[in-house]
Order: sequence, then structure tokens, then C-alpha cells
Amino acid sequence: MTADPWSKFETHARQLQALGGLDNLSHWDSETFMPRKAAEARGAQQAALRAVMHEKLTGPRLGELLEQLDLSRLDARQADLVRVVRRDRDRERNVPERLVVELATAQARAVEAWKEARRTDTFELLRPHLEQLVKLRCEEADARGHGGERYDPLLDKNEPGLSCARLTPILGRLRDGLVPLVQALSARPPPDDAFLSMDAWDVDAQYAFSLELLAAMGFDLDAGRLDRSVHPFCCGLSPTDVRLTTRLFRNDGSNGLFSALHEAGHGLYEQGLAADGTPLSTAASMGLHESQSRLWENVIGRSRPFWSHFLPRLAARFPEPMRGVSVDRWLASINRVQPSLIRVDADEVTYNLHILVRFELELALIHGDLSVRDLPGAWNERYERVLGVRPPTDADGVLQDIHWSLGEFGYFPTYAVGNMYAASLTRAAERALPTLWQEVARGELSGLRGWLKTNVHEVGRAKDAEEIVRDVTGTGLTETDLLAYLRAKYEA
Ligand code: ZN
Repeated sequence: MTADPWSKFETHARQLQALGGLDNLSHWDSETFMPRKAAEARGAQQAALRAVMHEKLTGPRLGELLEQLDLSRLDARQADLVRVVRRDRDRERNVPERLVVELATAQARAVEAWKEARRTDTFELLRPHLEQLVKLRCEEADARGHGGERYDPLLDKNEPGLSCARLTPILGRLRDGLVPLVQALSARPPPDDAFLSMDAWDVDAQYAFSLELLAAMGFDLDAGRLDRSVHPFCCGLSPTDVRLTTRLFRNDGSNGLFSALHEAGHGLYEQGLAADGTPLSTAASMGLHESQSRLWENVIGRSRPFWSHFLPRLAARFPEPMRGVSVDRWLASINRVQPSLIRVDADEVTYNLHILVRFELELALIHGDLSVRDLPGAWNERYERVLGVRPPTDADGVLQDIHWSLGEFGYFPTYAVGNMYAASLTRAAERALPTLWQEVARGELSGLRGWLKTNVHEVGRAKDAEEIVRDVTGTGLTETDLLAYLRAKYEA
């Protein structure tokens, strides 16, 4: 007996999802425990796996399986799965294999050049690679197709359904709201936060405290791990295998802690997806993913109710640096607002200004209005104008992020989208859970986690990110909730 068309299609879709999980496992291993000498062999292994996945998604077999389906007989969930697989396939299949290979090769070379350029503060080492990547990404955008806005297909890969025309005015209004707020806040006297950089934050105790926070958030450590890496990240192999990493420094009391909260926010999303093993059960967008991490890291993790419960526990583990540190001083220290040069170290108020600079610059690069040669100068000029600080070196400026060396154009805005979604989702959660903040103040975080699981995580890709948010908040992507949240918190 041969399997019916639906079973054959579903099996194919599950295999695609399973291969994606292995691809992620390989990535996680490369960033954590892989021996240094294995890099080249690992590169070949990953390229081989990607080729198999590309063929499975774009090849004729899946086309046949899709054609054999009787669409009129599918239930809603089945129809969603077909739509998602078809969309993935349509996105990929117009990109010629030659371009896929050229991009992969150019990215690998550019990342190596970027490391050296950053180490020696020499933008010129990266310049030709970046020029090549901009050219290839423009080709890719044209191959994917657009209605005249080349940036849209690049943005759509990360934030399905969002367009440059919709995003630009939202980010403009966000900037107009943030600039005066930053000016007012940075004029305030700085808090006494020297205890945070004391050389007394035992890293094993930091790791143990991070696990305590993860458990309180409801992150299932029997379905995930927390390890250490140079750059913290979250990697979901399946909802029952979610790998988090953090970084811990003896002379930094907050970096590892907030990295753990951030990555655990991503991790709860991955664990909260339906465990049906299909491509439908993955995150709806990069921005929505980031909303989950920023919600836990900033909205919850930098709030007074949260620390009214957890500060005594932190102080018990770190008696020396935390001696005499009150809740007020702790909150002032972890919420210090100050324009700075480095995005990943930025506070939650200035953070989006870092994103705006990158968005404007990459848009100009893709439109051909700015040459790569002029990029460092344009970067410095914008930092001075938008944030009031000028990078002394390119290493502290245009060379600080890896994204462009990976050919990632259309990715940076998803960080700002995530911050906006986080604020909007919090507003909706406060309405739905009237005792939310009392629960947080008792260290009870399961109510919020359950609400997010039902309203965001479990939806998977059955809806686009903005639709998921609109269904619970009543509005789509908007800057107003984020600005209201920041004003209420920092003007208090
Ligand atoms: Zn993140």
C-alpha cells in the first residue's frame, strides 16, 4: 500500500524541519565545544548539509508532492503548513544556485577579513569584501523579486510581510521620540555603579544564579542547556532541545545575568512552539523572536517588582560586591542611560538609535546612494548627529558588528521591531493579567510565560508576526507603546 499524498508531503516537510535542527546543532557546536582545528572540516560538513536542504526545498520532488495535494480537503492546520512550505520554496527557488554558492563563499571570506580588520582597526581590509556582498545581495533581491524597493526582499527574509515603506516612518517617529528623552536622561547625575565592575563576581556563582533565574522563568532544563560562549546566543534544535549560551566575567556583575535573561526569553519561545516537528512550528519572525528576549531582559528583568524578589537572592550569592547595595541603587545602576559607541552594551533607551543609524546606512548602500568606501565617514557623522558621540576608531565604529560581514542587510531593523513588539505585548499582558506585577514581585513568572506561550509561541508560523501581535494588542507594529513604556519608566 502506498502512502496517501498528504502523508508523503508531511513526511517531506518533517524531514526539512529535522535537517534544520541538525544544521542548528552543528552551529551550536561550532560556537561552543568544537576543537579549533575542526573549522575547515566543519565548514565542508555544513555546506554539504545546506546543499541537501536546498535541494529538498527547491527541487522537483517537493513540487510534485505539492501538486498531488487535494487542497479542498485540508483542515486549517494542514492548509497553514502547505502555505508555509510553499512560501519557503518560492523564496528560495528563484535564487540561482550560482548566487547561493557565491554568497556563501563571499560571506566566509568577509567574516575572516572582518576579524582582522577589527583587530587591526583597518576598514580597508574589509572594504572589497563588503562591496562584493552588497553587489550580491542586490542581485539576490532582484532574483527574489520586488516592486521597485530592493530592500524589501532582504527585510522580508527576516520579517515576513514587513516593507520598507511601512517601517521607515515608524522608525522615524521612534527616533523623534527618543532623541529628546535621551538628552534629558543623560543630563542626570550618573549612579554610583562601581560595585558592578568589582573583581569579585565569582563566575561559578553567576552561572548558578543564572540557572536559578531560568528555572523561575520556567525554562525547562531537561529540554535545554545553558553553556558559555564568546557571544551569547540561543539555538533551538526542537522544542525539547533548546541550547542557550551566556558569557561570564569576574569583573562584571550584570553582563552575564542579563545575557542569561535575554537568551532565556528566546529559549522560552523555542520551547513554547508546538512539538509537531513541522516547519509550521518555528518562530514567526526575527523581530518577534527578539521581542521575547527583550521583554524578559528589559521589561521584566530591569523592573522594580522583579528585583524586589530577586535582589536578596543575588546579594546572598555575592556578599562582597553587593554589600550595602540597596534596591534603588541596583535599579539605578542597571538602568543607567548614557549615549555610547557600542550597540551591544547600550541601555534600552539609546539602543534603538544604534539600530536607526545602521538601518539608514544599509538602506543607502542597497539603494546605491552610499558607496562602501564612504561608509566609515558616514557612520561617524551619523553617530555624532544622532547619539552625540564620535567613534575614535573604526573598530569602535563601523567595524563593531559582524552582521554586514555575513551579508546580513535587512536584519538590524528586526532588533528595533523586537523592542516595539515587546512593549506592545507587555501592554496587552498587563490587561489580560491584572495581577501580573504582583506575581512578578513574588518571583512568580509562570502566568506571563503561559500567556506568551498561548498567544505568541504556540502560533508558530500559522500567522505572520504582525498579525500575531495585532490579535492580542489590537494594533500592529507601532512605536507608541515603546515610547510610552520608556517615558513612564524613566521620567518617573
Ligand atoms: Zn536576541
